Amino acid sequence: MLFQQLEGAKMAESEREAPSVLSADFMNFSPKDSASRWLEAPDLQQEVYGHLAHYVPRILCQGPHSGGGREQQREELATQLLLLAPLEWFLLGGEPASGLAMLQQNNRSPPLCGRVFKVGEPTYSCRECAADPTCVLCMQCFLASVHKQHRYRMTTSGGGGFCDCGDTEAWKTGPYCQNHTPAERSRQAEEDPVSLLPPDLVARSSRIFSIILRYAVDLLTWDQEDQLPAGLEPPEHGDTYYCMLFNDEVHTYEQVIYTLQKAVSCSQKEAVSFATTVDRDGRKSVRFGDRQFCEQAKSIIVRYTSRQSKPLRVQVMHSSVVAHQCFSLKALSWLGQIIQYSDGLKRILCQVALKKGPEGENSSLVDRLMLNDSKMWKGARNIYHQLLMNSLLMDLKFKKIFAIQFAKNYERLQSDYIRDDHDREFSITDLSVQMFTVPSLARMLMVEENLMMTIIRTFVDQLRHRDPQGRFQFDRYTAQQAFKFGRVQSLIGDLKYVLISPPPEWSDQLRLKFLDGFEAFLDLLRCMQGMDPVVRQVGQHIEMEPEWEAAFTLQMKLTNIISMIQEWCSTDEHVLIGAYKKCLSTLNQCHGGLSDGEQPISLSLAGHSLDTFRYQVSQDKVSIHLPVCRMLAGLHVLLSRTEVASRFPEQLPLGELSPHLLIELPLRCLVLCAQVHAGMWRRNGFSLINQIYYYHNVKCRVEMFDKDIMMLQVGASMMDPNHFLMVVLSRFELFHIFSSVDIRKRYREANKDLAQQNALIEEMLHLIIMVVGERYVPGVGQVDPLEEVRREIVHQLSIRPMAHSELVKALPENGNRETGLERVIDSVASFRKPGVTGKGLYELRPEWNKHFNMYFHHYSRADQSKAEEAQRKLRRQNGEDTALPPPLPPPLCPLFGSLVNLLQCDVLLAVEGAVLQWAVEPSGGGWTESMLQRVLHLVGMALLEEQQQLESSSGDEDVTFTYSNKITRPGEAPSTSGSVLALLESLQNAPHLEVHKDMITWILKMVENIKTIRERTSSSSSITINQGRGLEETVRDKDKAERKRKAEMARLRREKIMAQMSEMQRHFINENKELFQQSMEELEASTSAAEHSPPSLDLTSASQICVGPRRMGWAERRQSVTCILCQEEQEVRSHGRAMVLAAFVQRSTVLSQNRGCSLPDPEHHDPLFMHPELRVGIHTASCGHIMHATCWQRYFEAVQQKEQRRQQRLRGHTSYDVENGEFLCPLCECLSNTVIPLLPHAASPDTSVEHPCLEAWLKRTSQQMAALCSTHRKQSPGAAEEAAPDGFRVDFIPPNPYSSGISTMINTFSMSAYKVGLRVNPNEQDPRVAVLSWATCAFTVQSIERLLEEEKKPLFGSLPCRQEDCLSSLTRFSSACWTSAPLRTVHGHFIRLMSVLVPDRQADDGPCILDIDMFHLLVYSVLSYSSVQSLDQSGRSFEDSAHLHLLHLTTVAQLVQILLTIRPEEQCMEHSEQSEEEQLSSQLYMFLQQLVGRALPEVSSGWQLWTSVRAGILPFLRTAALFFHYLNSAAPPTDLLGTGPGQWEALCSYLSLPSNLLLLYENHRALLEPLVSRWCRHPTVGQMLQGGGALVRYPRESNRLISLPEDYSILINQASSFTCPRSGGDKSRAPTLCLVCGCMLCSQSYCCQTEVDGEDVGACTAHTFSCGAGVGLFLRVRDSQVLFVAGKSKGCFYPPPYLDDYGETDQGLKRGNPLHLCTERYRKIERLWRQHGIPEVIGHAQEANQTLVAIDWQHL
Ligand SMILES: [Zn+2]
Ligand SMILES: [Zn+2]
Ligand SMILES: [Zn+2]
Ligand SMILES: [Zn+2]
Ligand SMILES: [Zn+2]
Ligand SMILES: [Zn+2]
Ligand SMILES: [Zn+2]
Repeated sequence: MLFQQLEGAKMAESEREAPSVLSADFMNFSPKDSASRWLEAPDLQQEVYGHLAHYVPRILCQGPHSGGGREQQREELATQLLLLAPLEWFLLGGEPASGLAMLQQNNRSPPLCGRVFKVGEPTYSCRECAADPTCVLCMQCFLASVHKQHRYRMTTSGGGGFCDCGDTEAWKTGPYCQNHTPAERSRQAEEDPVSLLPPDLVARSSRIFSIILRYAVDLLTWDQEDQLPAGLEPPEHGDTYYCMLFNDEVHTYEQVIYTLQKAVSCSQKEAVSFATTVDRDGRKSVRFGDRQFCEQAKSIIVRYTSRQSKPLRVQVMHSSVVAHQCFSLKALSWLGQIIQYSDGLKRILCQVALKKGPEGENSSLVDRLMLNDSKMWKGARNIYHQLLMNSLLMDLKFKKIFAIQFAKNYERLQSDYIRDDHDREFSITDLSVQMFTVPSLARMLMVEENLMMTIIRTFVDQLRHRDPQGRFQFDRYTAQQAFKFGRVQSLIGDLKYVLISPPPEWSDQLRLKFLDGFEAFLDLLRCMQGMDPVVRQVGQHIEMEPEWEAAFTLQMKLTNIISMIQEWCSTDEHVLIGAYKKCLSTLNQCHGGLSDGEQPISLSLAGHSLDTFRYQVSQDKVSIHLPVCRMLAGLHVLLSRTEVASRFPEQLPLGELSPHLLIELPLRCLVLCAQVHAGMWRRNGFSLINQIYYYHNVKCRVEMFDKDIMMLQVGASMMDPNHFLMVVLSRFELFHIFSSVDIRKRYREANKDLAQQNALIEEMLHLIIMVVGERYVPGVGQVDPLEEVRREIVHQLSIRPMAHSELVKALPENGNRETGLERVIDSVASFRKPGVTGKGLYELRPEWNKHFNMYFHHYSRADQSKAEEAQRKLRRQNGEDTALPPPLPPPLCPLFGSLVNLLQCDVLLAVEGAVLQWAVEPSGGGWTESMLQRVLHLVGMALLEEQQQLESSSGDEDVTFTYSNKITRPGEAPSTSGSVLALLESLQNAPHLEVHKDMITWILKMVENIKTIRERTSSSSSITINQGRGLEETVRDKDKAERKRKAEMARLRREKIMAQMSEMQRHFINENKELFQQSMEELEASTSAAEHSPPSLDLTSASQICVGPRRMGWAERRQSVTCILCQEEQEVRSHGRAMVLAAFVQRSTVLSQNRGCSLPDPEHHDPLFMHPELRVGIHTASCGHIMHATCWQRYFEAVQQKEQRRQQRLRGHTSYDVENGEFLCPLCECLSNTVIPLLPHAASPDTSVEHPCLEAWLKRTSQQMAALCSTHRKQSPGAAEEAAPDGFRVDFIPPNPYSSGISTMINTFSMSAYKVGLRVNPNEQDPRVAVLSWATCAFTVQSIERLLEEEKKPLFGSLPCRQEDCLSSLTRFSSACWTSAPLRTVHGHFIRLMSVLVPDRQADDGPCILDIDMFHLLVYSVLSYSSVQSLDQSGRSFEDSAHLHLLHLTTVAQLVQILLTIRPEEQCMEHSEQSEEEQLSSQLYMFLQQLVGRALPEVSSGWQLWTSVRAGILPFLRTAALFFHYLNSAAPPTDLLGTGPGQWEALCSYLSLPSNLLLLYENHRALLEPLVSRWCRHPTVGQMLQGGGALVRYPRESNRLISLPEDYSILINQASSFTCPRSGGDKSRAPTLCLVCGCMLCSQSYCCQTEVDGEDVGACTAHTFSCGAGVGLFLRVRDSQVLFVAGKSKGCFYPPPYLDDYGETDQGLKRGNPLHLCTERYRKIERLWRQHGIPEVIGHAQEANQTLVAIDWQHL
């Protein structure tokens, strides 16, 4: 394909005038001849180099215009023809196209897909089958794979990386998709693909590949600016140079653009283009010329950019060097393409690339490229990385060899990368993921290259900042060090890849190397052990917050690694034992000197004594970072879990363990947390608070907090429980309190830190609860890993129902980013689907409530209290007691078995006794509720333990747990009080302990129960246990019944109260009858206005009329409103105080029938005739809130002043633009930009006047118009020559019917409509002002009619109040707005409007009727007629008659419009009998055919004509009905309050039209026939019907948002192939889809900025102006986010209409669950758009979230 195309292109090239230098070469050159010359050459390299030396500089980089379209095309062509074609001829030994086709044919289909991902392309991974999360499929492979039916995740690629389809190691099942399933034969034996090629081809390709690859490597790694490698020197060395600018990641776009404008004096546009290319390709020549010229530019650039930082890199390079480098890149791409044809060629290239040179180590071509990677520019790196991916990484054999080279050079490559400043995706080190994630390869590298150790050592070496003890020190970190630290972290990523899957089997070598690696890792952990120590600050607050984030970042990054290493250890007992020994000895080294110099003390309590040393967390150094301890804790638990401890005890150094030392550091850390919670560390600032937060946070806790608890469990299980507790008491600094109970009393009086101490006691008790009770880690308790996850979920859901994503966030992820949530969620929770808003939620099933543990160790304090409250509430609702006893814990593993003795040891009993003793006294702060609650919990745990042991034992004798006995013993000295049990019994009924009563009752029952079991078992057998349990059950049941009864009583009481209340309401209504009467009357008025109608007209009650002399007036209704600002009531009157409605005016294209054409020029646009395409309209909306005009003005001035002050202070943005008149409604904060004045209802029709017929009215009106015209022409009022009708006085100046306040407000709104509608500055003199006020009325009515139609709502009675009020006041306003305009102007408008309806015989300067929207024409003419009527002093008002006649005329015009644009449709069944309507339609149509000739299609069916007419005219009639309804305040007929049948008839009669509309024409045929023929003879009509210009057909289709695909990945895929329209084939970074027109845009990028009103704006904003006239809706595809934009400065994000299976959106595509379209949510967005609600949504969003205001929306 490629080559045929070029043959053709060559012809074209030779035909046209080719550039001078090359034309001769073009004509004479034959690639075939060159190739055959080369074949015979003794030294092929010399020959080829000679060729390249001759041609390359002449073809490439010929001058300054590199990159220009035609220039570039010529270069491409010449490169192909003169440089690459001979290579192809040589390689294939004949014609290339057929040779390659042959190769491809003989090639077996590749087993690997290997598709290299583009930026933003969707990738898929299977959560069930992928070996690790880096294993991904491309979309094609995914769709053809089995994983489509599995639980998969979808992400977008960051570019680079390739599809793993076909890699058997990447997938546990289904490694091949349907397209890449290999044939049976090839799957078995891997044969050498080279052997399938002809030998001569092998020889030739090997020679040519090695020459070309060497050439490319030489040039890409070339560092001389003026010289070339030997053999490539150009024939003539001219003085032509390039000034080459290189990319760095230090300077910003703006800096580079600014510098370039100065240095090479280019325009801003050119500078932007240079900068974009530099950023993309890594370098770009910015100047071409002689050497001095380029040096000049260089020195300026260096000078300008060296000020802030190191200067930009610039080189002056000879043009031939640049040319050869350019061709090197092309040659590499060429190699990449050629090897796609054959696996054999691919392998030959691999051989050539990895062949060692004469220099030995690291001398292969690939080695040279790798080792020079960081010196190359971005573009060069990209191209050779791509080639490596297509060759070495696609060939399993060579992938291995390459991986070994990569691992050998690992340290050097990483150091290079860390020193470099380019992103990792442009570094060779980024390829590690392709090799290290292949488990077999990773293990091979570990064994042969000691990879694990290498990575860790490299990492440790890079972090050189240490304190005197050799620990990492991150304080006083400079920005540069921080940057380096950021880059170093990628090494941890590599380590993660290597460790991601534990080996299925171990070799001795692997064990050895893993343990080497483990030792290196321990060295790393030792550098972290004890880092960032803190000392409690007393007296003064710390001066500077210490650096803490770096240490925690490190911990966070390592968390997964630590867990993975433990997992590896768990799979092999030799490794586990080896690792345990190493870890222990490292810990012992860390502990060296721990107790040195500390003061030894001896403690005694409850008859036990202990020697320890003094240490106080509150006074000495303490660190949160104890990774070595925690590693040992993890390994110790593994010893238990794998039962290695019990099987090989002799191999373990258990004797070396000192439990006291083991617990010391973790205990200090936990005490630190307790003291911080108790408020003892307030002066240490936020950094400590943050550290404590992360210590418990889900991201860190697995290898921090959890392991510390575990270590305490390890220690406690090996110690005398009394000693353990004494150490704990001592470290909590609470020992003295419990060593003598009396001391507390004395202490209490003197101590002001009592609250602190109480908090510490609470924390300590909580710690003991956790140490004994946390048994859900496999190895500590007898549980499996899923039970652990399930317990987490149960406790999360005990707080409240949660969304899937919230649960995921609350659970720790493992290395494979799995939490295990899906595997258990359905067993504990039920799913509740989301509605149109909100998320789907999981709710805990009730049977799991009994597993709730108030002291769950992962609860924060807030979580705990919320959960406790929720659980108590639940129990109360179920009529149960509110005790929340501890749940049954799982049994402990043998190694931890002795932990339970803590619960019954003497020290704990003493502590419990002491607290209970304190609680006897109700007051004083000597104890706290939570303290007591914890003690009760501990007692409960002990009793549960005893009961469990009793139940599982066969006899009493082997139950060693005798808590129930111990608590009956009276307290020993020093606490001489009663026994714990006695205390509990006495507290049971203490009035101050009401809240704990249920729990104490539960405990006492348990004691009873245990006693019973013990008695039965000791007396007889064990069968009685069940009875004992039964007893407890019956007690509980009884209790339950009692509670149920109480709840029922409460319910009855509530009902009674409700009944009483409704009785009171009834009374109220009776008492205020008058008031209700009034509102009832109003209600009646609206439903049956017949009573109010004038008696002269006889009408059936059903017929309501809104227009014409027979309309129903409603003017008697008085309108009274209340100002929201001053709360005063006010009647709306023409001469009263002005009242206004807050309103928002905006331009709209929602109804546009043609988005393609450009918007009219505001200065010269004539808005008098609205085109039926409705390109842009003006929409007015209101929140319906009414104010006095004066109140509003005062409010607005205040807002303005506030804004001025604010802008001086901080140039802050607001959600509204005061300078454009915007403000927020003072009541509802709805965005508004003007106000509509409220006017009284229209007067009732003048029934005294006789209604003139159409002819008479037309005559009278044309006389009036003639009189006006001649007056205007003569400029002398009063001298009218034309005979004016009687009473019509052209010189009359009608009085203004409104008070000045109202007039001002009329003016205000008129100006707003004018200003917004035309986007111009206010100008009261402009004659178009009145037109725009009418326009917004007409357009708003029209858009609301569409809305009602779309939502299938009745025409009347279904609008919300605010819209009802808005339309009503808007219509009445527009009928009055002529009063504020010069009369002559309005008369002029009326005359022009009439001249279209009733055209003059000669003049045809107006638009033709096909170019006019009839509803707009109707509204404008009706509204402007008032100005004519105002001059009529005859005492008779013809206004109503005029309205009716105008309606008739426009209706007929609309009929003609519809018939003229009727769609030729397929013939339908002819009805035998035609109705009257059908006959008349046919007649009129035939008449029109006569007028316009053959242009109209043949439609013989009258039925079809009438159907089309009816459908076409319905929207017009509906809008007209709405308009006259509001204009004349006429009540709507009942039929139109619903959507039942009879709508048509009701509508026609409401409009006073016959239901056979054609009668309008038929009955005035004599008058109308000439009019119709004049309409049709307008020259434009003929042109349009002949096909000149797009016809608008009726009914116009309603606009919808574009339809979106059901599966979101289809959109992502579309977006990934979308390229920026401006920068030739580049991928767009933020592809954004316009939801209105479906246009894809390149958003948020310099390349696509456009100028709008003299300001550069991003593609979205620019598109918003043309497509949406200022309002835009977009879908940001890569972020899965909807974007709303209004104008230049406003925008917000909105949830996308795509949900995952858990009913959640995924904004930012972070979770990767498959997303599907939610139609309801999309409809909701569509409705928002149709209702013109976008600016309001943005306003509210910005008010609610101030950060949105600061975003530069115009750059999106
Ligand atoms: Zn694929
Ligand atoms: Zn595939
Ligand atoms: Zn799968
Ligand atoms: Zn007021
Ligand atoms: Zn409001
Ligand atoms: Zn672009
Ligand atoms: Zn659009």
